[in-house]
This record gives sequence, C-alpha cells and structure tokens, in this order.
Amino acid sequence: MSSNPSEFIPPAAPRIGDAEIEAAVAVLRTGRVVQGPEVAAFESEFSETSGTEHCVAVNSGTSALQLSLMALGFGPGDEIIVPSFSFAATANVVRLVGAEPVFADIDPRTFNIDPESAASLISPKTAAIIPVHLYGHPADMTALTALADKHGLAVVEDACQAHASSIDGTPVGSFGSVGTFSFYPTKNMHALEGGIVSTDDAQLARTLRLLRNQGMEQRYANEVVGANMRMTDVSAAIGRVQLASLKEWTLQRQANAEFLNENISSVVTPHVAPGVSHVYHQYTVRVEGDRERFQEVLKDEGVGSAVYYPTPIHRLKPFWDVDQERGRTWDLPETEKAAGEVLSLPVHPSLSRSDLERIAQAVEKAGSRQ
Ligand SMILES: *Cc1c(COP(=O)(O)O)cnc(C)c1O
Repeated sequence: MSSNPSEFIPPAAPRIGDAEIEAAVAVLRTGRVVQGPEVAAFESEFSETSGTEHCVAVNSGTSALQLSLMALGFGPGDEIIVPSFSFAATANVVRLVGAEPVFADIDPRTFNIDPESAASLISPKTAAIIPVHLYGHPADMTALTALADKHGLAVVEDACQAHASSIDGTPVGSFGSVGTFSFYPTKNMHALEGGIVSTDDAQLARTLRLLRNQGMEQRYANEVVGANMRMTDVSAAIGRVQLASLKEWTLQRQANAEFLNENISSVVTPHVAPGVSHVYHQYTVRVEGDRERFQEVLKDEGVGSAVYYPTPIHRLKPFWDVDQERGRTWDLPETEKAAGEVLSLPVHPSLSRSDLERIAQAVEKAGSRQ
C-alpha cells in the first residue's frame, strides 16, 4: 500500500478488508454465531502462535486477564505485582477480582517490569506477578519465572501487545501459568474485540472454559459461579483471517522498525534484548526535551504519533485515591521518567517506503528543533 505524500500518516491502521468482511458475513449466514466452530478453530490455530497446548477464547484482552485471575483463584487478601507503566487493564483486573495491585518499576531500556523491583515487593500476601510485554518486547521471563518459582507465585503474562513475540524462539504466552492476548482493532492482529488465554495446563483450561460460560460445560448443569466472556464466531472468523497474515505483518513491522532505526539519530530508538523477537506493536522512542512541541512538528509534517502511557497506572485516580487513603506510596523513578519521555511513531505494516522516509525526516526535523 502506498499513500499520497500529502496524506496524514496515522499512528495505527486497523485492517477490515474484503476477506474479513466475507468471513463475517459467511458466519452470519450459518446462524451459528457464538462460541461455535469458528471459535474452536481459532483457538486451535492460535495455540501454534502461543506455543501452548490450550487456548481459551474470550470477548476481550481484559476478560482474558480477569478470567485468568478468577481461574487461578485470586481475590481478597491477595497481592499481585504489576508494572505501573502499562495500560490500565493490567491493574484494573486485579481490583476487579478483589485483590490488591502492587506496583513495580521498569527496566528503562525495555520499558518492561524490572525483576529486581518485583522481588523487592514480595510479601507473604503476594500471589502472582503480571509481566506485560509492552510495545511487543518480551519482559525478562528468565528472571521472572525464577523469581516466581522461588516464592511459589503464579505468572500471568499480559501479552496483549505481543502476538508472536519470542525469547530464544520460545513464544510469549507459553512462559507463565497462563498467557493473555487481546484482539482489539489496533493490536498487531484483531477480531473486532476479543481475547485469548493460553496455557499448557489442561485442568486450568477446563476451569477457564467453565468460568467464561456461567460455570457450565453442559447447558444448565452449572458447576461453579461464572461470567459471560464468550467470543462470537464473527470475531473468531475475522481473527482467523488476520492470524493467517500475522507472520507477514510482523516481518513488515520489523522491517519498518529497522528502517527507522537506521534513519533516526536525534532521539533514543528502541532497545532489543539479546535473543528477543520484538514484534513492534509500538515503535517507541524517548524524547528528552519538549515532547508536545516534538509532536507538533511531526503533525505539521503529516506524521501521527501517540503517547503510551502519559500517566502511570499508580497515578490514575482510582488507584491513587485508594493508596492515598491507606498512606501507601510507590517509588517508581524509571516509570515516572518513561511516562514523561515516550513517544510512539507509526510502524504498522501498511506504511509505504515513502511514508517511512517521511516519518524519519520529520523526526530528525523535530529533534533538531529541541
Ligand atoms: C489492549 C491491552 C489490554 C486489554 O485488551 P482489550 O482487548 O482492549 O480488553 C490489556 N493489557 C495491555 C497491555 C493492552 O495493551
């Protein structure tokens, strides 16, 4: 795809093409529209990407996280360690099950949870850690799984931004007790809305399946109290179409990132840890000067950009207020610094060569005006 040189380059470009539309219409014509054959096929196909025995499809990435915490039996009295530098869903789900989020700092190079910070926060109440593979770069799963094993903690991977990312060839979503993925339109692949939980544990997979469907395997033979987090077959059919292109799109994102790395020198470009396959959900640089002005210059050059995330989760009102009341404070210097500096540039697979050249030139121009 190539774009007109005067056209604005958006930071994300979700695809709903003819193949997605035809797949959705075909499902509607069958009348089997919820948790049917398309969902089963999508689960089975996605388990190759997650590298796990089982995948359980749900209606969002947030549901995938919440369902995982429910299935693992976490609730009031439990503390769950999360990075504060993430999308709010990572911590919202902890509160939604009645547990307490405990906020760890990040590694400034990868923007991911710092295992040493996580270790310093472990208490007798700690039940789990939720590492987020932010921007598509995997968290340090070697250190984190060692820490979790040492203290008997569960690991719930938030891989909502990291489809097909890997460490030494092992895909994310297969390191923890469970992995969770989102299929929201702006993610590396989508299903309109949707999510999946990946796991190698057959018993846990069964519990996840029960809990997503009112606690039922057989209709009206309820075994436990459950929710309705079912995926529709329309979503699953679209997800299958997208999954078929995920490899190609990931390679395109990586090639786009490579081009930007080579042609940008005025700001700090993304770090990639050894052995890691970064899937560039976001291509995120650090702007050490005036970020708003930097964005203005990009915009004047027709280049979109976005800040993920301007406010760390611990500073968001629902978390901040509760912590204030309890007199709990967090010491998260790298999180605060990153929130003030990060800027994500377009890296999506529909960028043309001339788009990429325009992005790099605009960044160099913005950088020179700092
Ligand atoms: C998108 C996202 C989620 C939530 O996924 P939804 O499908 O939007 O509910 C959770 N965590 C992270 C890090 C995300 O980027």
